[in-house]
Amino acid sequence: MDIKERYLQVLKLKEEATVRSGRSGEEIILIGVTKTHPAEEINQAIDAGITDIGENRAQELLEKYNDVKPVRWHFIGKLQTNKVKSIIDKVEMIHSVDSIRLAREIDKRAKMAGKRMDILIQVNSAMEDTKTGIHPKELKSMVADIIDECDNVRICGLMCIPPIAENPEDSRPYFKEMKTLLENMKMWDFPRSKLSPTHISMGMSGDFQVAIEEGSTMIRVGSSIFGPRNYK
Ligand SMILES: *Cc1c(COP(=O)(O)O)cnc(C)c1O
Repeated sequence: MDIKERYLQVLKLKEEATVRSGRSGEEIILIGVTKTHPAEEINQAIDAGITDIGENRAQELLEKYNDVKPVRWHFIGKLQTNKVKSIIDKVEMIHSVDSIRLAREIDKRAKMAGKRMDILIQVNSAMEDTKTGIHPKELKSMVADIIDECDNVRICGLMCIPPIAENPEDSRPYFKEMKTLLENMKMWDFPRSKLSPTHISMGMSGDFQVAIEEGSTMIRVGSSIFGPRNYK
């Protein structure tokens, strides 16, 4: 199968999960995760109809940026503060904010660029050492701090990467927890211009159907669209 065929296959699976869970397809954005794949392949996906792509390394995003057709870029990986400056005017949303320090830098650079940056807070409910993300218990105080200090940032929801699992059902409890957290956030009394908790970025190639069933609004799908990755 080529990229277009795999993309259409993913769309079909996405649609099936959407219907099964009584949701509407427009609510759920498919982000094609393009790390390790060259601009040429990304453009094939764009020609096939993909509207959103995600990269997890700033350097790689910058290397490809000018060769990729117009599309919405998402930053989905660990972001070092010294890289914020280089991507601030290129991405639609930063999914992986896990410290007030990073939020402050995003705020500063967004202000300089004359824009407001949409962000998600990355939550790590499994509390694995190898992964980034804050503990759910820290969420409210971090949201309060960001709202207090960062005028050029809008918190749009949550992102999570559950532990790697062979069975997609193993991810379900983590997805459920994210949905509960998002529903809690909706009741917090902060200005909607600062906190607009509408998105949950969760679900990858192995488990995006389960994620949709549990309320994901952004699925991040790499290998199912672009094939296996060759890390250099
Ligand atoms: C690589 C990556 C994905 C996509 O993973 P696949 O299993 O290839 O779909 C999703 N989210 C993040 C943060 C990633 O780094």
